[in-house]
Amino acid sequence: MIVDAHTHLELPIPGVTPDPSRRRPTHMLMWAYEVMGFRNPLWRGEPPEPARVLIAAENQLRLSMGSKENLLRIMDRRGISRAVVLPIAPYSTSLQYLEKCRGEPRLIPFASVHPQGDWEKDLEYAMANGCRGLKIHPILQRIPPESPFLFDLLEAFKRYRKPVVFHTGEFDYFVPRDGYSSYGDVRRLEKLIAAFPDLPIILGHMGLYYPERALELARRHENVYLETSFQPLRVVKEALRVAGRERVIFGSDWPESDPAFALRIARKAAGDDVDLWERITSRNILSLIGG
Ligand SMILES: [Zn+2]
Repeated sequence: MIVDAHTHLELPIPGVTPDPSRRRPTHMLMWAYEVMGFRNPLWRGEPPEPARVLIAAENQLRLSMGSKENLLRIMDRRGISRAVVLPIAPYSTSLQYLEKCRGEPRLIPFASVHPQGDWEKDLEYAMANGCRGLKIHPILQRIPPESPFLFDLLEAFKRYRKPVVFHTGEFDYFVPRDGYSSYGDVRRLEKLIAAFPDLPIILGHMGLYYPERALELARRHENVYLETSFQPLRVVKEALRVAGRERVIFGSDWPESDPAFALRIARKAAGDDVDLWERITSRNILSLIGG
């Protein structure tokens, strides 16, 4: 049984029109990156502007593929039994994702709330109706990681005893820059992580271009979990060394990446260790969400 801990259904951020008839991912820079096992020989850290623009455009085309049918199809092809689906409010809501997942036990919806809505009511409704965790995307939601709202949100959320997935990693998603990428700096989450030591916090993409920062947080805080999307084998192995076999979790970020690539890296990282493979690809996330 394989569980993908990081996927999305429809995520219509500005510039993205859902297009379920698109079934093949783009084959430009992101594909080259996937094929190289997320190793990048060309630059260190964040991409230079021309590459960033290309990746942002490619990312938007890939996001337009996000639909339940397309997700279930890729899961079948890659041998994935279940997937955690992450809405990002206000672009997609817990309610929409709950509706799409109804009657489909293979899909596990998380909640997402936005400070501009009646977030306390939204959170309560989402959790009462079957959401199994909470997604926060500081960049797309334009919420500074130090904002008092996040402390209030996690204070309200902790009673559910479920995990929180943060997007981590600096990236500007739009072709003309909109300037919020620094909200993705994983180091800026440390006060929040320290304030809720009993709340499992999953760092999505493990800090993306700066995984050493996410690893440092895992070293310092027992409640930090590292999710593997976009990370090369070397980093996933290092994550296992630093955080241990119980705190590394396979995720792909489909439709932004084909799960085949992150799965291949998980398989290499686990080697012949069946227990480790099972933990990374299902047991760790299942134990956090409960079942
Ligand atoms: Zn994502």
